[in-house]
Amino acid sequence: MIRERAYPVDPWHIRETRLDLDLLAQSESVFALSNGHIGIRGNLDEGEPHGLPGTYLNSFYELRPLPHAEGGYGFPESGQTMVNVTNAKLMRLLVDDEPFDVRYGELRSHERCLDLRAGTLERTVEWVSPSGKGVRVRTVRLVSFTQRAVVAFLYEVEPLDESTRLILQSELVANEQLPPMSKDPRVAAVLDHPLQAEEMLEQRSGGLLVHRTKASDLRMAAAMEHLVETPGRHAITTEGHADWLRTTVACRLEPGQKLRVVKLAAYGWSSMRSLPALRDQVGAALASARLDGWEGLVQQQQDYLDAFWDHSDVRVEGDPEVQQAVRFGLFHTLQAGARAEQRPIGSKGLTGPGYDGHTFWDSETFVLPALTYTQPSAAADVLRWRHSTLDLARERAQTLGLQGAAFPWRTIRGQECSGYWPAGTAGFHIAADIADAVRRYVQATGDYDFEREVGLELLVETARLWRSLGHHDRHGRFHIDGVTGPDEYTAVVNDNIYTNLMAQQNLMTAVEACKRHPDLARRFGVDDEEAASWRDAAAAVHIPYDKELGVHQQCEGFTRLQEWDFENTPPEGYPLLLNYPYFDLYRKQVVKQADLVMAMYIRGDAFTPEEKTRNFAYYDARTVRDSSLSACIQAVMAAETGHLELAHDYLGEAALMDLHDLHQNARDGVHVASLAGSWIALVAGLGGMRDFNGQLSFAPRLPSRINNLDFSLLWRGLRLRVNVTADEVTYSLRNGGGSARLTLLHHGKEIEVTQVRPVTMAIPSAGPVGPSPSQPAGRAPVRRATPH
Ligand code: BGC
Repeated sequence: MIRERAYPVDPWHIRETRLDLDLLAQSESVFALSNGHIGIRGNLDEGEPHGLPGTYLNSFYELRPLPHAEGGYGFPESGQTMVNVTNAKLMRLLVDDEPFDVRYGELRSHERCLDLRAGTLERTVEWVSPSGKGVRVRTVRLVSFTQRAVVAFLYEVEPLDESTRLILQSELVANEQLPPMSKDPRVAAVLDHPLQAEEMLEQRSGGLLVHRTKASDLRMAAAMEHLVETPGRHAITTEGHADWLRTTVACRLEPGQKLRVVKLAAYGWSSMRSLPALRDQVGAALASARLDGWEGLVQQQQDYLDAFWDHSDVRVEGDPEVQQAVRFGLFHTLQAGARAEQRPIGSKGLTGPGYDGHTFWDSETFVLPALTYTQPSAAADVLRWRHSTLDLARERAQTLGLQGAAFPWRTIRGQECSGYWPAGTAGFHIAADIADAVRRYVQATGDYDFEREVGLELLVETARLWRSLGHHDRHGRFHIDGVTGPDEYTAVVNDNIYTNLMAQQNLMTAVEACKRHPDLARRFGVDDEEAASWRDAAAAVHIPYDKELGVHQQCEGFTRLQEWDFENTPPEGYPLLLNYPYFDLYRKQVVKQADLVMAMYIRGDAFTPEEKTRNFAYYDARTVRDSSLSACIQAVMAAETGHLELAHDYLGEAALMDLHDLHQNARDGVHVASLAGSWIALVAGLGGMRDFNGQLSFAPRLPSRINNLDFSLLWRGLRLRVNVTADEVTYSLRNGGGSARLTLLHHGKEIEVTQVRPVTMAIPSAGPVGPSPSQPAGRAPVRRATPH
């Protein structure tokens, strides 16, 4: 676990001031850079020591067999694993004839700093070689947001006390050897030599490698070039082999002199393009990077991030640790989605191999809300990617004997890759999560062209899935049986409340969208009868309720199950999935992650305030948060039910997930859903933002330690700013001129905001709030304020 305060609190930087080799893998995830297309882990420049080397290209994967001990009809037989592609980060230094390696000699000082405003990772090191030669090394790297195919590195080295010979070997390396795989099922499969060499080209100061995968038949190219500055003479050569290419710069420097090398690298991949075409593509990317040079790339990165923070920053005063973590979370959310461009967003982004690089509902339900309200085009692109996989989803539905589209629980390319169907195929709610993301995007942007091009078909095909998956019983009630909701500790159940309420919304959203585009709906084969059947199903959806306890049931019969013995579950028994059989988890009242509580947030319109209060207390006492997706949603419902201190605690947990390595697996990549979820915890939790039926509403209230919360979001092209203090809220428009007006609800009261007329409203008193809900023994979140 990363020890507390591993990263000093700082509003805009994540700084590491000493190198702890035991924590290297975690820090490589924290310091990973990405633009959504390329991702590089924060490996040390010299490659060794490392925790987990990693370089990834979005959707560049290899197929691998998915063996089942006991197969069954419809089980996927092939899995997809993200490939660790050609590494361009490697820059090895020799000081006289000794390799710069922090495990030898003396590391006098070490600092790495992720600058959230500059979008760069900087490292400064002073090292003395075993034979006593001192050097200062400064490196800076970036994955360009503006030039999608480009990665750039600055390497500066200077001798400290005497004349020194310096040799810098800068490389491209394919098929790096990876550490062996752990037994944790959430980790990836390790592929042995996934890349086959196709072409190597060496030039004086750089070159190119082209490789392809064996089974998935994808081709990739990586190219590099070096710009060298040094006061005296230097020699530069490049040599290559099928799997590596090395440019060597040699010089002798006196103290006070500096060798400065800029390494520009470019990546491209394709399933269709020919070798020459791909070669030219990366050549062009390199030419474009050269045109701007290091300074130009740094400036573009800065400008891009200035605009991002201007639109998306969330300011939290009173808890500087959460402030830093939330910005870190927003930065990684941007990194995951910024330039994904019609490719999926994986649950780890491109920061590590965890979950094989697969995308899950994490993307639509946790990442897209933040993107929809801050970077809507990135959100639209993810949905365009889903749309591009519709044929595969239709095929899957057919295989399963269903209609419409059955989207995969986890995938890279669109095919189902889950080898465990109770927590895979049975997680049908992914369909409604996609539909919800479409609804949210169209509502927030008014982008009806998107609805025609992409949205409507997704809504229609998912509605068809629900209609065929569910059934009306003899009393007319509509049930969806044999599915798994978000809580994976209760699987293959009847009438999971989250699934049912989300399906209901999916069906109704499809009906409404078909009304808006009748011509297109007819083209998709929707007639009046079909639309009526969706409406009927939605109206009759069964919502399981326990009258005796006065709470909803997460699924039919849930509240009748045996209670889990939390008192006798030791701390090392968590996460339960690694220490107890699923068989036992499934038959008891133990909740992995917010499920019914999640339904009360997204479908908050389906519950009364009293129901929310009672349900939240009941389920919080049984939720162990073994999934990182849980805390942010519990923060939202804690806030809505008036437990503001608890909301603050859950917010802290979501935001600090990776900086504090709370789930002890940050080594495999950051938890993008939880990081993006900290935006949800702040905006929907403390800000009380909801968008039911196209009506934007807020109900802000702050916990005792947070004295100011300030965020902006985009609604139909208008930039709304919300500034919350303990007693009042100011809503203002940042654009739109005199004519634009935005009507919203503040604690249920309608107000109108224009650019010239900000509105300040008092926060009404909360009324009586019952005792704070309890959590399972030993599972309470870390308190962020006074005990409650
Ligand atoms: C959670 C899922 C999530 C997946 C990927 C699992 O542990 O239960 O809800 O989609 O991780 O993050």
